Amino acid sequence: MIAQSHIEALCTLLGPKGATTDANEIAPHMEEWRGKYFGKTQLLLKPDTLAGVAAAVQYCNTHDIAIVPQGGNTGLVGGSLPGLSGHNEILLSTKRLNKNIKVDAADYSITADAGCTVAALQEAAAAADRLFPLSLASEGSCTVGGVVSTNAGGVHVVRYGTVRNLTMGIEAVLPSGEIYNGLTSVRKDNTGYSLKELLVGAEGSLGIITQATFKLFPSEKQKHTFWLAVSSPENALALLEQARTVTGDRVSVFEIMPDIGLELVLKHIPASRSPLKASHAWYILLEVATSTADPALSQSLDSWIETAMTAGLILDGAAAQTSAQAAAFWRLRESMSEAQKHEGGSIKHDISVPVSAVPAFLEEACAVITTAYPDCRPTPFGHLGDGNLHFNIMQPASAEKAAFLDNWESMNRMVHDIVARYGGSISAEHGIGSMKKAELSRTKDAAALSAMKAIKKALDPKAIMNPGVLFE
Ligand SMILES: Cc1cc2nc3c(=O)[nH]c(=O)nc-3n(C[C@H](O)[C@H](O)[C@H](O)COP(=O)(O)OP(=O)(O)OC[C@H]3O[C@@H](n4cnc5c(N)ncnc54)[C@H](O)[C@@H]3O)c2cc1C
Repeated sequence: MIAQSHIEALCTLLGPKGATTDANEIAPHMEEWRGKYFGKTQLLLKPDTLAGVAAAVQYCNTHDIAIVPQGGNTGLVGGSLPGLSGHNEILLSTKRLNKNIKVDAADYSITADAGCTVAALQEAAAAADRLFPLSLASEGSCTVGGVVSTNAGGVHVVRYGTVRNLTMGIEAVLPSGEIYNGLTSVRKDNTGYSLKELLVGAEGSLGIITQATFKLFPSEKQKHTFWLAVSSPENALALLEQARTVTGDRVSVFEIMPDIGLELVLKHIPASRSPLKASHAWYILLEVATSTADPALSQSLDSWIETAMTAGLILDGAAAQTSAQAAAFWRLRESMSEAQKHEGGSIKHDISVPVSAVPAFLEEACAVITTAYPDCRPTPFGHLGDGNLHFNIMQPASAEKAAFLDNWESMNRMVHDIVARYGGSISAEHGIGSMKKAELSRTKDAAALSAMKAIKKALDPKAIMNPGVLFE
């Protein structure tokens, strides 16, 4: 329990709008999106200024009170909820830190408060004829602080990289309560260790991000969206290679989905419709975009698709003729996770391997898992363009959900061992949180792990910042 005197002191520090102990107000912050984790806390802090965050952290540091930062609470690894690891943590929500978004069109950069949503940044950039390329299905809710802290990926990584590649500068309150002012739109800076790089992907364990500056790009003026059927992941990769060459490397999205994934979307998501007449083993959502109108691109895409169909590389396909059609293709892709929720238990893996290794990984991992768990239904989908798959395994149709989900850890270990053999990562874009701590310590390079622990100890000697994530 946190002493009542500390709760009262923190409430006084942040004022009536900046803190609450009201269980009804706290409740919506306590459940993870998938319903897998439920947190608990006595106190929710809601500062709306940098000074408020710094004062709260300073107080907590002095009095050894642990804090969990939370943005949109769309994280998928149990990292944004207090009380999961037996610590008495308070929650600090950045939702009220959402007043400022500033586009610098000349420098191709955008600076925003930690609690602003990704969708708000996309809109602000578009209004200035610029593109903020981070795009993920949770973009209406996930925040600047959250995407930086998880080094989010999304659908445009193949072209624009992860949040790490997009982040130019960060302002944060360090565990001591000291303010780190690293906001900058400077593109080159070789002045020693980069605190910015440490904070990206730190999952709130090294401080609270209060603002960040990101790169922008010229806005996309011409976009081509295709739904393509292929017979195998090998053929999908051959298609990716051709698409990159034919378009002058202007592929901005290259997503893969299996037929079973589409079937479930058609079954469970109202008003969804397959763009193609027949079923095929795999589907690709391909998007090609350019910042200038380019009629030659349209022609070369048309003739490439025709050639690939004649060669049997593309089995069937549809090109979006309107933005509504493109949105319908996107809806199928973005409903993959939601549709699986309706089908019982699903054991998740957010893994990456080198792009060229995806077909071999898929073959081996599906064979190993279906041998060990007969009748389970692998439903891998995701960002083939960057080698990141959501390797989801759905329960057998007739199985009992809870009994199937009891296999979560053992199945994770099997899949992660295969990932390791392909030189991949057990967390491509969701992070470690509290969910994958044991797997991190089992699979991470020993020297890297001890350096990470040393960094944590140096910056947060009292372990007050999100102590339940990353390390066991
Ligand atoms: C439907 C759906 C689709 C998704 N698709 C993708 C996808 O394609 N790619 C992808 O990468 N992720 C995806 N995610 C996961 C999730 O959206 C991302 O991890 C996102 O970055 C989390 O942002 P958030 O603001 O919700 O953070 P939260 O969930 O609130 O927090 C996530 C982590 O960041 C820390 N944190 C939050 N704010 C701060 C801060 N200001 N300072 C320090 N630490 C902080 C938290 O403590 C926690 O450890 C998806 C989630 C959903 C529900």
